[in-house]
Amino acid sequence: MSEPKKVLVLGAGYGGLMTAKGLAKQLSSSEAEVTLVNQNSYHYFTTELHKPAAGTSHHDHTRVEIASLLPRSVKFVQDRVKAIKLEEKKVELEGSNEELSYDYLVVGLGSAPETFGIKGLLENAYFIRNIDSVRRIREHMEYMFSRYADEKKDELITIVVGGAGFTGIEYVGELVDRIPELCRYYDIPEGKVRIVNVEAAPTVLPGFDEALVKYAVDYLSSKGVEFKISTPIEECTEEGVILKGGEEIKSATVVWTGGVRGNKVVEDSGIDTMRGRVKVDELLRAPGHENVFIVGDCSLMINKENDRPYPPTAQMATQQGQQLAKNLASFIRGGEMKPFVYEPKGTVASLGKRVAIGVVGSKKLTGGLAAFMKKVIDLRWLYLLGGIGLVLRKGKL
Ligand code: FAD
Ligand code: NAD
Repeated sequence: MSEPKKVLVLGAGYGGLMTAKGLAKQLSSSEAEVTLVNQNSYHYFTTELHKPAAGTSHHDHTRVEIASLLPRSVKFVQDRVKAIKLEEKKVELEGSNEELSYDYLVVGLGSAPETFGIKGLLENAYFIRNIDSVRRIREHMEYMFSRYADEKKDELITIVVGGAGFTGIEYVGELVDRIPELCRYYDIPEGKVRIVNVEAAPTVLPGFDEALVKYAVDYLSSKGVEFKISTPIEECTEEGVILKGGEEIKSATVVWTGGVRGNKVVEDSGIDTMRGRVKVDELLRAPGHENVFIVGDCSLMINKENDRPYPPTAQMATQQGQQLAKNLASFIRGGEMKPFVYEPKGTVASLGKRVAIGVVGSKKLTGGLAAFMKKVIDLRWLYLLGGIGLVLRKGKL
């Protein structure tokens, strides 16, 4: 009998976890040895990071230990991937300095902030990226509020959110829920706090349904959010941001949500990338590398209907992971792989805990109904990951 095939999965996000779990379900350990590498011992729900970033939920609600999600047949290695060595079919790890070899590689290392080379952003802005980064945002913001009592400097309680895509809007929605509580705690009159959402495009949520965008803007504006549209941030300094045209907004807390690019490890591997993302074929393979598969935010797929890349989403990553697991299992058994076809189920964006906007199928949803839908989507992910047990543990309303 032949040796089990070595399948190495990098990244325990939406794409990587779905692939590893799916493979373990379909293949026996005599057919494949599945190893999952992730830098943390836990998986975090990237789709919910805007909440701990604002402090509307504790960061522990947004993560779960990976070991509790995996069947025993999957070997979990907690380490940071340093390099992918395609020629040698090996992956180098940072902490242990070990190299892991593979027959098939699945890369699901997620994204990194895209700063477009804007001066001062990397040094001075905060990013909604992982558990560490959102914990830092919340702690920093609270510290700035605490200093206001003494120092009375308006910039301490001015929060600038750079970019009004889905991440920016969802974060602003959480801030709207959180600020009243912070003001009570630190004895600050609510009217003194400024939340400024700056967007380069002529509208917030560019490309999204116009009526829903209007709903979001009206709702958030009624809660005091200031929108500055068609005014790209051109520089971020220690004092705040400078917009196109020269306007300066003084702010001690600048959170950048202006876009994402693929993980640098992938860019450095020698595979062709566009903004760090690999244009995969219909079997999710990297060009020129038949045994290397890319899922999630590191991959790029073109929507044939409009000839534009699909936006990188958890929905896409999950579907890719599920399909790839089926394909690889079939291939390892000598069967065929089926082309991946993305099936968009809709988009729902929260505006805080109780309000949201969304399109599901042909239906537009707003307000409490959309917020309920958003909760259902979050619970579905918990169910896919860890069944009803995880839903009960982590899915509190
Ligand atoms: P990720 O889920 O980011 O996972 C990547 C994993 O790789 C992480 O565990 C990370 O720690 C690990 N990793 C990274 N580098 C290394 C390394 N060098 N070594 C080892 N491990 C490493 N999409 C939706 O569809 N719906 C939503 O409602 C939604 N809401 C969002 C809200 C926010 C605030 C944000 C930021 C994004 C949201 N998205 C949403 C987008 C979605 O979260 C991403 O598209 C999705 O997480 C991508 O999944 P992934 O598996 O590619 O990567
Ligand atoms: P994005 O690229 O979707 O949005 C970034 C926004 O920043 C854009 O509107 C862009 O015009 C703006 N921007 C860029 N440069 C700027 C500048 N210099 N100054 C001001 N604004 C600037 O990025 P995102 O919002 O982080 O989303 C990343 C991915 O995650 C997307 O695919 C998105 O669909 C997905 N996501 C989905 C949800 C959801 O479905 N609820 C929530 C969050 C994120």
